[in-house]
Amino acid sequence: MDLTAFAESVGASDPVTVSGAGTRGGPMPDARCVAAPSGIVEFEPAEMTVRCGAGTTVNELLSTLAEAGQSLALPAGGTVGGALACGRSDVYRLGRGPVRDTLLQARYVGAQGQVVKAGGQTVKNVSGFDLCRLLVGSFGTLGFLGEVILRTRPRPAVSRWFATTDADPFALLGSLYRPASLLWDGETTWVCLEGHAEDVEAQAGSVSGAREVHGPPTLPVGSRRSVAPTSLRSLTGTFVAEIGVGVVHHGEPTPTGTAVSTEVRLLHGQIKGLFDPTGRLNPGLDVLDVLGTTGGMS
Ligand SMILES: Cc1cc2nc3c(=O)[nH]c(=O)nc-3n(C[C@H](O)[C@H](O)[C@H](O)COP(=O)(O)OP(=O)(O)OC[C@H]3O[C@@H](n4cnc5c(N)ncnc54)[C@H](O)[C@@H]3O)c2cc1C
Repeated sequence: MDLTAFAESVGASDPVTVSGAGTRGGPMPDARCVAAPSGIVEFEPAEMTVRCGAGTTVNELLSTLAEAGQSLALPAGGTVGGALACGRSDVYRLGRGPVRDTLLQARYVGAQGQVVKAGGQTVKNVSGFDLCRLLVGSFGTLGFLGEVILRTRPRPAVSRWFATTDADPFALLGSLYRPASLLWDGETTWVCLEGHAEDVEAQAGSVSGAREVHGPPTLPVGSRRSVAPTSLRSLTGTFVAEIGVGVVHHGEPTPTGTAVSTEVRLLHGQIKGLFDPTGRLNPGLDVLDVLGTTGGMS
């Protein structure tokens, strides 16, 4: 994909922001707005990779991949670039993996308006710093993604959700074969099982009191926090915990006093300074503040 026009639109001097489908909401930086190119360039089912413009919608990508029995671990709804920039995995992260593992290669436009390539088509081809992992979750403050190569995964034959109040979710994590999702609100456990129909049926049969449900519960939206797996058992209040992942969706906002350490803020500022010395990319957007209010990336 030719990124010349995209690089020219980003330019090299004035403040600029990039937008995908705009699903994240919240205030946009006060700057000229550009959009990444869209379109699927190359899908190689045998290699389990797909190359596309970062402006491609995740839904379009998913429907193309589905024709070849494949999928990928990006949350649906927005664009590929937006999903990668937010780095927010959905509740299927336990089985399908985190968003950051999806990005194999990125060609992005840096603060000087130059096109930069990061990563490689296969993991073993990559040497040096893992820039792709740095770009995921950077909210477009280090560079604007133009074209990406993503890792695809097999699409499960069936995907079914079950709920039970009779089972210990922590025991299920050890006894079930790679559940796609395991959620717990202190009383009810929800589990998503994926794979071949007979295997899913057999696994479901091993879950005490399991009844089939339409999908995951509605997640509380007060705050989203990552916690140590060992502290999950002692959670209180209104919550839904992602067992095996450590992300907890709380009904209550993040308590005050959970600020990012000075060291992390300093390191973060140094990285931003190296990539974007004049602060022209998504000006005013502080990733640490965004992560602080939306519960981090995972
Ligand atoms: C269940 C669920 C809940 C979620 N809730 C939230 C939430 O509360 N808050 C949240 O922040 N995210 C949330 N997300 C993350 C979600 O992934 C994003 O909202 C969505 O994927 C963004 O896509 P978009 O195209 O709409 O991006 P936009 O909303 O258009 O942009 C989002 C961010 O990405 C940057 N961006 C867009 N395109 C590019 C590009 N090409 N290169 C570099 N940067 C780019 C933008 O500048 C902006 O900072 C949630 C995801 C899931 C699965």
